[in-house]
Amino acid sequence: MQVRVLGCSGGIGGERHTTSFLLDDWLLLDAGTGAARLTLEEMRTLQHVLLTHSHMDHIAALPLLLDTVFGSREAPLEVRASEAVLRTLREHIFNWRVWPDFSQLPDPARPVTRFVDSPAGGHFELGDHRISMVEVNHVVPCWAYIIETRSGNFCFTGDTTSTDALWAALNRLPRLDLLFVECAFPDREGPLARASKHYCPSTLAGDLQKLQHDPVIGISHFKPGSEQETFAELAALMPGRKLRALRADQTYTV
Ligand SMILES: [Zn+2]
Ligand SMILES: [Zn+2]
Repeated sequence: MQVRVLGCSGGIGGERHTTSFLLDDWLLLDAGTGAARLTLEEMRTLQHVLLTHSHMDHIAALPLLLDTVFGSREAPLEVRASEAVLRTLREHIFNWRVWPDFSQLPDPARPVTRFVDSPAGGHFELGDHRISMVEVNHVVPCWAYIIETRSGNFCFTGDTTSTDALWAALNRLPRLDLLFVECAFPDREGPLARASKHYCPSTLAGDLQKLQHDPVIGISHFKPGSEQETFAELAALMPGRKLRALRADQTYTV
């Protein structure tokens, strides 16, 4: 499985784009502004979108993406998320005032998109991928996704601060090859990280001591302008871990 970073920043500006990852060519994991960098053909090829949570930096490109592929798809583009996220999207985005409800267009029997409730603690299969959801600790409901394939296992934490259930779930896997985890703030902004339920280097380093696997660890969601400071703090705290600062256009193989 190829994991392509479309966006992984906590903000925008220049080369910065917000969270979105493309798995092979058919599965989009979050739809932040990074997803707007897909070509028209790549958008038409997508089959599924998984959303971690409803914050703007993770959904910003979804309304325009659905409009862009309107009329050019055989099957609906399936958007999977928690019931809470889907309700928020319906009430606040696809409410006919901000944007049309593309789950009803061009007609409810053959819509552009289909919203699928994916509860935490559950799992589903897409092709030979087994995908499971773990609720993590953020200011709104947020799911981590664990994606198990024949070639290896990958987890994206979404936005979160300490969540013991996630590390326990990962330790139950026979292997973990690739982990993308957020670290939104440097340690000097620890109070802001705690208030907004994001990691900073000291809290992430403490939690990674609970992880029994030794995956490549891609760090996402750096606050714009604090990228080098935050990553340097992480590297100093965890010299033994295989840390990578995620950047748009990188591709990882699982
Ligand atoms: Zn968030
Ligand atoms: Zn975020």
